[in-house]
Amino acid sequence: MAVERCYYEVLGVERTANGEEIKRSYRRLAMKWHPDRNPGDAKAETEFKACAEAYEVLSDPERRARYDQFGHAGLRQTPAHDFSRMQVDDIFSMFADIFGDAAGGRGRRTRARGFDLETSVAISLEEALTGREVEVSFRRRDVCGTCSGTGAKPGTQPLRCPTCGGQGQVAQTGLGGMFRMVTTCPNCRGRGSVVAEACGECRGQGRVQKSRTLSVKIPAGIQDGQVFRIAGEGEPPPPEVSANGTGPRGDLHVVIRVEEHDRFERDGDDLITAQTVPFADAALGARISIDGIDGTQMLELPAGTQHGEQFRIRGAGMPNLRTPSRRGDLVVHVLVEVPRKLNDRQRELLRELASTDGGSIDEGRSGRAPAQAAASGKASGGRKRGKSKDKGVWEKIKDTIVGE
Ligand SMILES: [Zn+2]
Ligand SMILES: [Zn+2]
Repeated sequence: MAVERCYYEVLGVERTANGEEIKRSYRRLAMKWHPDRNPGDAKAETEFKACAEAYEVLSDPERRARYDQFGHAGLRQTPAHDFSRMQVDDIFSMFADIFGDAAGGRGRRTRARGFDLETSVAISLEEALTGREVEVSFRRRDVCGTCSGTGAKPGTQPLRCPTCGGQGQVAQTGLGGMFRMVTTCPNCRGRGSVVAEACGECRGQGRVQKSRTLSVKIPAGIQDGQVFRIAGEGEPPPPEVSANGTGPRGDLHVVIRVEEHDRFERDGDDLITAQTVPFADAALGARISIDGIDGTQMLELPAGTQHGEQFRIRGAGMPNLRTPSRRGDLVVHVLVEVPRKLNDRQRELLRELASTDGGSIDEGRSGRAPAQAAASGKASGGRKRGKSKDKGVWEKIKDTIVGE
């Protein structure tokens, strides 16, 4: 999905702008970024599409209100036209009411295929692990069942458009007859017919918003932001082309959102987690259990494990989308935990440790810091491992911590 930009900024209008101001600004910007006027300029096309997306939301009072209150998140569950994957011609024909002749003839609605839609569905990381079938609910403009898409009140018939004589197009001459241009009939908007008495259900539009729910099978290993295309689940062809909606429908694009997890971060097929480990375990080495995404994993910590060290548990990550039998790794960041409180026995043992090793454990509070330990710390200048007498102290420290 494209970066979410503020719709008001995209259109260069105040948040208080009225519908007419928004329309005017959109029209101006769409002309400015018109791909025909900016050939080969990818930025212009991106801007052009961003403006269409912003206009579609801000020109609809209901969606604008939701956007004002909740931002982009408020629009997640409502499908929008998928402008980023749409042809420029289609965008012009969609907003033909605004562009009219300014589109330079591009606004002619001659396209038989319906428009694409986009919606999103959120799943948990666990669901991405196993894959699952989800219900995707969305709304789309569909053929009005009351009038079968004609827009005419049942029992009445649409009349041939008097402006274009049923052609759906009118010819205009410009610059004193210098050229002749064929454009969409402004009276019937290209339909060729006008409704004498409008259908009450769709108010003469021939299309109404309908809810639809589909079952989508999401494969294991899906990544956040990946898009499913479901062919033929978009809008039917526009009423100007096919009143009853027969003909190829657009597609539905379902953007998968994988929710953030409180214990795992994802890096491709790998999962990253952090595990706190008592300092005695880190020093002595230990076999520790890690909560994996699908069960407990055992990890052998070597003696002398440092804070921040990483260990990989092979095959305990996410399945690969293409080859689900192959899984990524679980990467464990070890956080060595130093006890915040010590009892007398532990303090005594640590002092003993400090006196035997290079450790300089400052016992400022009691004021009985062993001078010997500080001295030996400077002298040895580093840690010594593997000495049997050191090990004995560590083991005792571990016992006291485990015993609590
Ligand atoms: Zn109707
Ligand atoms: Zn007409």
